[in-house]
Amino acid sequence: MADVRNATSVTITCADCGRTQSIPALPPGAEAECVRCDRLLAHRSRLFDLPLACAMAIFILLPPAVFMPLLDSTIKHLLSDESRLVSSVPVIYSEVWFPFAFGFLFFAFLFPALRASFQIVVFLSLRWKWKVPQLGRIFRWSEELRLWCMTDVVVIAGTVAYYRANISADVTVRVGAWCYIAVAALAFIGDRALDRRAVWNEIFPDSVVPPVRHLASCDVCELAVMDRRPGDPCPRCGSRLDRDITPRFAPALGAVAAAIPLCLPAYSASIMVNDQLTGVLEHTVLGTVQLLADRGYWQIGAVILIAGVVIPIVELFGLLWLLARVRFPQKNGLIIRTRAYRVLHRLVRWPMIIPFIAALAAPIVDFRGIDDIVAGPGATPLFMIIVLITFAVRYFEPRLMWKTAGEEAT
Ligand SMILES: [Zn+2]
Ligand SMILES: [Zn+2]
Repeated sequence: MADVRNATSVTITCADCGRTQSIPALPPGAEAECVRCDRLLAHRSRLFDLPLACAMAIFILLPPAVFMPLLDSTIKHLLSDESRLVSSVPVIYSEVWFPFAFGFLFFAFLFPALRASFQIVVFLSLRWKWKVPQLGRIFRWSEELRLWCMTDVVVIAGTVAYYRANISADVTVRVGAWCYIAVAALAFIGDRALDRRAVWNEIFPDSVVPPVRHLASCDVCELAVMDRRPGDPCPRCGSRLDRDITPRFAPALGAVAAAIPLCLPAYSASIMVNDQLTGVLEHTVLGTVQLLADRGYWQIGAVILIAGVVIPIVELFGLLWLLARVRFPQKNGLIIRTRAYRVLHRLVRWPMIIPFIAALAAPIVDFRGIDDIVAGPGATPLFMIIVLITFAVRYFEPRLMWKTAGEEAT
């Protein structure tokens, strides 16, 4: 996309703490952080066309990654199995519960494809100066989908499933897996190279008036608006300016409250049921960690312990703490809590590794009577917990804490 149009400093409102401030025009490679909460406000990219190239490559590579063969497994050249990413969906559908199957389909394939197509529309129309209506809205949707595109999580889960299948069979990695790894790498590179401030500015320029008074502002694109009031739609991205507290607080609290009772079935029931020659083994999350450690695969055991147990607990307690501080505000420690929120936001997708391992291992380790893995009854509640926590993290805004503490506009 083209260079930033205005080379002067712009006035924006930090989405995390609500501080209106002006940021200078940056040289390539430079970053600007919020003066108060050190949120990354702008990152000037060197390569403006790289995110477009990545989005196009993702769009082309995703169909073969999902529909071509992923892994082949054989036991002594007698029994063989072939898995495709798309074949995991009917397997989960028949073994556990349909929302999990659809969740896998959406997080692994449909959301990344949708995000890439939104980005292609936005970047191409900025590059060639096409007049596309609602461009800001389309870019906002592509940014919303970022949290729900789990290509990197699928790759790590697939690696663990590969090692698990290798215990009993000879596993070959096929073209679909290589395409999917490329998609995950491109998504990571494109995300790193994306200059969000420049894209927003191309769609609708930020204000250049110095911040002399508190302005209505957008929590998504950080636009500070002169002539609108809180509650009006953002002229750039269509979100609501200065969103109310209750419509964000109540769903976040509800999602956390719904996730807590699900912990009992998720951790007491088995995630994977393994039918072997020697008998049927049912693995809970903690049982799997112990089994892997006993067999010498302690690295994978540690990954599962951190992703499956430690992160969900940290997320639940962390969110309860932050939500309590919205209801019972305190001025001290606002910056620390804002930073803690960013950590929660970054970690929240990773527990999805555990249900995805069950989903990916089920079609590849499918030798009935010899070695057969099916997703167990605990996989669905665990999946639900992670979706609810992600939803809560998405709905919670650190700015709510600043608002109720009366520190936002200062
Ligand atoms: Zn800030
Ligand atoms: Zn906006």
